[in-house]
Amino acid sequence: AAKAEGKDRHQVFDPRMRREQAGRIRMVERLREGLEADEFTVHYQPIVTLRGGRSVAFEALVRWTPPGQDPIGPDRFIPAAEDSGLIVCLGEWVLRRACADAAPWFHTYGTTITVNVSPRQLAEHDFADKVRRALDDSGLPGAALTLEITEGVLVRSGAHAELTLAHLTELRSAGVRVAIDDFGTGYSSLAYLRDLPIDFLKIDKSFMPDDPTDAQQGALVRAVVDLARSLRLVTVAEGVETAHHAELLRTLGCDRGQGWLFGRPGTAAAASLRLVSEATVTVRS
Ligand code: C2E
Ligand code: MG
Ligand code: MG
Ligand code: MG
Repeated sequence: AAKAEGKDRHQVFDPRMRREQAGRIRMVERLREGLEADEFTVHYQPIVTLRGGRSVAFEALVRWTPPGQDPIGPDRFIPAAEDSGLIVCLGEWVLRRACADAAPWFHTYGTTITVNVSPRQLAEHDFADKVRRALDDSGLPGAALTLEITEGVLVRSGAHAELTLAHLTELRSAGVRVAIDDFGTGYSSLAYLRDLPIDFLKIDKSFMPDDPTDAQQGALVRAVVDLARSLRLVTVAEGVETAHHAELLRTLGCDRGQGWLFGRPGTAAAASLRLVSEATVTVRS
């Protein structure tokens, strides 16, 4: 009897589970308040060509700084935003902010913008409409926008897989490009590469060797870059932290890199300054 009782109690009254659930509920409440109070900003991280080192794109990364507190990283609140559905509202806000910030960059320098999109957003019936409206309102052409989705997007959208595909196909015919984010981490089957309309593969940062002399780590990153190249996709390496990473990636024929070596995420103003100084350097040389 004690055992059975213990089991029931475990399910209903486990203090750790209750604390976790309360924490999740509180996080969702705070997210909702934060959205109303305008506590979110978007930072931008350069994506550079590995030959030439020019910033050809910026990735939009959401930041949340509740007043009087340290910034809360997206890894801590994006999951709660996804579970609660608030990501639909937050994601649309990020998209509109990013398009508005990126429009002058594109018109002056040809720099494009990439925005992360959750499966939940792609499962909305009006997702493609929202993207087109963000483009129209900002004056950014479709060709200047890339949407980043993860490998499991079709699986995770479940019953909405067809709708997800329809949105991506429709947007792509408007010039918008699609990137697979965190490539190599999420999903065991590669069949989706055949089914999804995609343009870029972003190789996950976990593939960057932490030890330059480790032949196995080198072989792994080589295999991933080769796979991406053989699919005729533009390859972007994430987590490029050292000159050795950049050199290795250049040798392997990877097209672009993103990481602390080239620049950390920063404000829109910092991104503008970076473009101005790159243009100045080019003019002088
Ligand atoms: P992600 O899309 O893969 O973005 C790249 C992450 O790697 C960013 O983390 C970036 O700051 C970090 N990073 C960049 N360079 C380096 C490096 O050299 N070394 C290391 N160790 N890390 C580097 P961040 O900004 O904390 O974002 C984490 C994740 O949160 C993103 O991963 C993305 O999945 C999600 N996220 C961020 N913003 C949004 C958004 O607006 N919407 C959605 N749905 N997800 C977002
Ligand atoms: Mg991303
Ligand atoms: Mg990534
Ligand atoms: Mg990610």
